[in-house]
Amino acid sequence: MRTEAVVVGAGPAGLLAARELARRGVEVRVFEEHAVIGEPNHCAGILSVEGLKRLQVEPSQDFIQHEIKGGTVYSPDGTTIQITSSRTRAYIVDRAVFDRYLADIARREGASIEIGRRIEELTVQDGRISGVAGKDFTVPTDIVIDCEGAGGFLVRRLKIFRPLEEILVGVNVEVSGVDLEPHMVEVWLGEELASGFFGWVVPTGERTARCGLACSSGDARERLRTFLRRRFGEVEFTEPLMWPVLTGGPVGRTFSDGLLLAGDVAGQTKPTTGGGVILGGLCAIDAGRIAAEAVEEGDFSSSFLSRYEKSWRDALGNEFSAMLTARRFVNKIKDRRMDRLINALKHAGLEDTLERMVDQGDMDMQREVIRSALKHPGLLKVLAGSLGRLVLGELRAIFNL
Ligand SMILES: Cc1cc2nc3c(=O)[nH]c(=O)nc-3n(C[C@H](O)[C@H](O)[C@H](O)COP(=O)(O)OP(=O)(O)OC[C@H]3O[C@@H](n4cnc5c(N)ncnc54)[C@H](O)[C@@H]3O)c2cc1C
Repeated sequence: MRTEAVVVGAGPAGLLAARELARRGVEVRVFEEHAVIGEPNHCAGILSVEGLKRLQVEPSQDFIQHEIKGGTVYSPDGTTIQITSSRTRAYIVDRAVFDRYLADIARREGASIEIGRRIEELTVQDGRISGVAGKDFTVPTDIVIDCEGAGGFLVRRLKIFRPLEEILVGVNVEVSGVDLEPHMVEVWLGEELASGFFGWVVPTGERTARCGLACSSGDARERLRTFLRRRFGEVEFTEPLMWPVLTGGPVGRTFSDGLLLAGDVAGQTKPTTGGGVILGGLCAIDAGRIAAEAVEEGDFSSSFLSRYEKSWRDALGNEFSAMLTARRFVNKIKDRRMDRLINALKHAGLEDTLERMVDQGDMDMQREVIRSALKHPGLLKVLAGSLGRLVLGELRAIFNL
C-alpha cells in the first residue's frame, strides 16, 4: 500500500525522523528488520543531559540506568587525571529500552512501525527513489528517509554516495560485581589497548559496568579481554557484541531525488567519541522536517531536498569538522607523548581549569571547548611542552587561532 513517507530502520535516527514526520501530519511507515526494537544493543549508552533536551526527549527512569558527573582518563602508562563536574553531565541509558521508548513516542504521534520487516532494496523509477521493497512486499512512496545505520547496505547498492570512512571495530560487554568509582566514566588510552580510539568503563550501577573499546587494527575481542584483565583481574563478562564505531565524520552528500540519509548511515557521529545518538538524532529531526515540507510542496527533487543538507551543515558542520580535526590530531600522538602530556597536565595544577571547561562545555558541540583549551595560557604551555611548539602551532592554525 502506498504511503506518503517511509523510514528505513527503527534506531534513534529513524524513530526521531518518524516522530517529526508524524507530528507534522505526514503518513509515515517505519520498517525495522529485527523482531525487537533496540536489539541487539551494541551501544555504551552515554547520552548528555543537554543532548536529550535538544532531541526533546524527557529523561525517564524507564531507560536511565545511572548518572555521570565526570571522568577519569588513564594514560598508556596508567597515570590518571580526573575531571569532575558539579552537576550530572550525562545519563547512562539502556539503549534497547531507550529505542523502544522513542518508538512509543513516534507511535503516539501517529507513525506506524513495522518490525521484522527487512528492506532489501530502495526501488528506483525515472531516476528517483520511488519506494522500498522487502522479500514479499513493495511499498511505493514519495520520500524515503534511510536510517539503516552503519551497515549502509541499501545505500551502498545505489552507488551514488561516498562510502563511510575511518570505521573502527567496536566491542562492548557487561560486567558485574566490580569496584567502581560511582558516577565516573573511565577512558583508557594506549595504542596497544585501543589503537585509534580508547577503551571505556561506564558504570551502569554501584557494582555493574559496561566496558568496551574500539580500535583501528588488531583483534578487538582479544584486546578487550586483555583490557578487562588489566582493569579488573579475573572477571566474568557477557558475550562481546561487535559493531562499527564511526570516526570519519559525515559523508559528502546526504540527499538524492526522493531520498534523505540520516544518522550513522550518513556518518553523523562525533569523531572524537563515536557517539551518534544526539547529533545523528538532530540531523534526523531535520530530515523529518524537510521531508514533511517536501510532502506539503509536492516536490521531492534533489534540489528541494538539498535544503536538508544545508540545514544540518549550517547547524553542525563546524562541529563535525572541529571534532574530526581533534580526533585525527589525537590519533597521531604516540603513547610516550601521551604519557608526557597526561603527566604534565596532572602536575601543572590545572584541574580547576579543566573542571571549569568541562562544567561549562558542551559534550556534543565540542568545538568551543577545543578552541578554549587551545587559547588557555596554562594549557598551551603544557601542550607545547609535551607535544612540541610546531605541532601545537599547526593545530592552532587549523582552528584559526
Ligand atoms: C561499541 C559502540 C558504542 C557506542 N556508544 C555510544 C554512546 O555511548 N553514545 C552514543 O551517542 N552513541 C554511541 N554509539 C553510536 C550509536 O550506537 C550510533 O550512533 C546510533 O545507534 C546510530 O543510530 P542510527 O539510528 O543511525 O542507527 P542504528 O542505531 O544502527 O539503527 C539502525 C536500524 O536500522 C535497522 N536496519 C538496518 N538495515 C535495515 C534494513 N535493510 N531494513 C530494515 N531495517 C534495517 C537496524 O536493525 C537498526 O535497528 C556507539 C556505537 C558502538 C558500536
